[in-house]
Amino acid sequence: MEDDDDFLMISALQHLAFCERQFALIHIEQVWAENRWTAEGKVLHERVDVVRHESRRSFRQEFGLSVRSLHYGLVGRCDLVELSIDKEGRVVEAIPVEFKRGRKKEDDEDRVQLTAQALCLEEMFNTVVPYGEFFYLQEHRRSGLEIAAALRSRTAGLVERARLLRAEGRTPAAVYSKRQCDNCSLLELCMPKKVGAGAKAVGRYMASQIAASRVTRERQRDEGAEGEVSS
Ligand code: SF4
Repeated sequence: MEDDDDFLMISALQHLAFCERQFALIHIEQVWAENRWTAEGKVLHERVDVVRHESRRSFRQEFGLSVRSLHYGLVGRCDLVELSIDKEGRVVEAIPVEFKRGRKKEDDEDRVQLTAQALCLEEMFNTVVPYGEFFYLQEHRRSGLEIAAALRSRTAGLVERARLLRAEGRTPAAVYSKRQCDNCSLLELCMPKKVGAGAKAVGRYMASQIAASRVTRERQRDEGAEGEVSS
């Protein structure tokens, strides 16, 4: 990766695994909306996402560890990584642990996230990461995930797909799915049920929302820049 802008956030792969349109709205159009689930997730991660580490000679826990892969062009942050260390101080095993609200999901976006973290850790520590773990809040226990070949190739495929969509700057059309859309933070902006007969109106509405979102971001950036200059 030559340019920082070429890197993809691991969260972008989760959005893409969930819905291509959601990925494009967030990572191409730069639209974001908070809902109950994203807000709860944020609070949970703020609780665990404190950069600190606990260590013994042969074992270390790193919380809020930043990770990256030059090979895949990925960056992200792990809630927790447990490292086993040999006598020479080399990392011989790394286990990423993700804290999640709710319960284990049918869809694979959480598994893609953990796999992407594992790929980053393998490159960073020159080791193999055969499995990771989830801690789902409602289950009150850890559950393991094998970082299997199928998940690795699914994740690598999503990296390629994300790059293609980003290069094309294309936002796929909405296709309503109750299971996905009713849990989507962008439902009100996307309005998937109205696409079709009302597509033009929806298009105009989306364009106005995207423009408004850009103006807000630019204003926040300008205010931030002014703050930096005056401080
Ligand atoms: S509302 Fe549905 S189609 Fe629209 S971004 Fe969300 S999941 Fe995708």
